[in-house]
Amino acid sequence: MASKKVNGFMAFVSDWRANNPEGRVLNISEAVSKCGPFWRKMSEQERGPYHSMAKNSNVLNRAAKKERLTCLGDPVSKIEMQENEAINAELQMKRKIERIILNAKISLELENEEFVFASFNYFTKALNVDIYVPAEFSACRYSLKGGISSTYSTMINPGQITFGQSSDAQHHSLTTHKLPLPPKAMGETNMIKLYMDILSWLSVGNDQKDEQNDHDTVIIYTTAELMPVVKSCFRYLACDVPTDKDARKIVVYDIYHLFYTLKKNVLDMAGVSNENLNFHVTKNFFAKDFFEFTSDIACDYHENIDRSKYCTKSMVMRWGFIFSDYICADLAIRLLPGKHMPPKVKPNYTVIPGDSSSNFDVISDGSYYSAPSQIKTEMGSRDLSATSSRTVSRNSVSSSYVPRDHTTFDGGLSNEGEFPSLGGRRPKPPAKSNFNMGNGKNNPF
Ligand SMILES: [Zn+2]
Repeated sequence: MASKKVNGFMAFVSDWRANNPEGRVLNISEAVSKCGPFWRKMSEQERGPYHSMAKNSNVLNRAAKKERLTCLGDPVSKIEMQENEAINAELQMKRKIERIILNAKISLELENEEFVFASFNYFTKALNVDIYVPAEFSACRYSLKGGISSTYSTMINPGQITFGQSSDAQHHSLTTHKLPLPPKAMGETNMIKLYMDILSWLSVGNDQKDEQNDHDTVIIYTTAELMPVVKSCFRYLACDVPTDKDARKIVVYDIYHLFYTLKKNVLDMAGVSNENLNFHVTKNFFAKDFFEFTSDIACDYHENIDRSKYCTKSMVMRWGFIFSDYICADLAIRLLPGKHMPPKVKPNYTVIPGDSSSNFDVISDGSYYSAPSQIKTEMGSRDLSATSSRTVSRNSVSSSYVPRDHTTFDGGLSNEGEFPSLGGRRPKPPAKSNFNMGNGKNNPF
């Protein structure tokens, strides 16, 4: 049995076992030793039919060769096909994103091109299939010039969660979004209505342009990590929608690729070299999530329980801020609070002397926030000089400006006295002098 090939003798043995009552009770090795003497006595002519039987069964076996299986019992070829499909889908996505941006660039509309960012929170994921039960949905419409123009945010009450998974769901909720579980969940309970509502909100921007292009698809962007969640949650919502009711399809793309492609093309437009830009750099910049702890951009519920980091509304808005922070300066787009940056940041306009505009080439490699320390100190000092003459600078609006709120932290860090090394002592001349003065006054001795 070890060798898969059958020879004439083995064909004879199995034939003898099949047609002989005596053979049926013997196991294969007993039958082999029983048949050996017969086979040796047979002439080549008598063996002929068995040789051809062996040949036939070898040919048949080869044709019906069994599929190789993975350790989970899935056919290897199926897995390979799925992998190929995934690679193809990614390629297609990259090409599509490039085409969208290139088209906008050619028609000089890149800064007005609208993108939709969307995100889901979920209660629980089914054990071995890609089913996520949605809990909260948010999306925002974003363009470089206008920043975030509108947002859509809703809680979802799916009514029930997968049987046997409430403990999982509870854990997930407690450690992340803290939304109450069904049946106590808040928000929309009618999945069909919700899906149609989301779809019509998503398609608003699409209807005006792209007449020639796929009218039936709505492209939304989310992070690579959230892509399976978002895709699955949309499937969950759309599950009961009659197929003939709406043929529009929601396509989920990777926001990291959009971020990279957009930055690359914007640098190209601005005439700055983009050779050093690569996907991993831009992705890391995005994943740093600089605005993680920004307040006042989450939904009321998450704002109140101080979980805004996990709120989908806060998430999609932060993505908009990251895009603005990284890209807008290259096109000299003026950042507006609440649209391009957190609403609480008050832009502080500074007049930049003509000769320092050469800084821009360096700055455009990163954002102001992430600029290397040398640039930062340069900008910081510029900023400080502007503070002294703030009355003048505040009134004069310039095309380039620097958001100031974070610079204060940086200033403190560079001051050695504020952060003594381990074991060192904080110098205390100011405190001392105060103390002495007080002491001197009330000194009874
Ligand atoms: Zn929320």
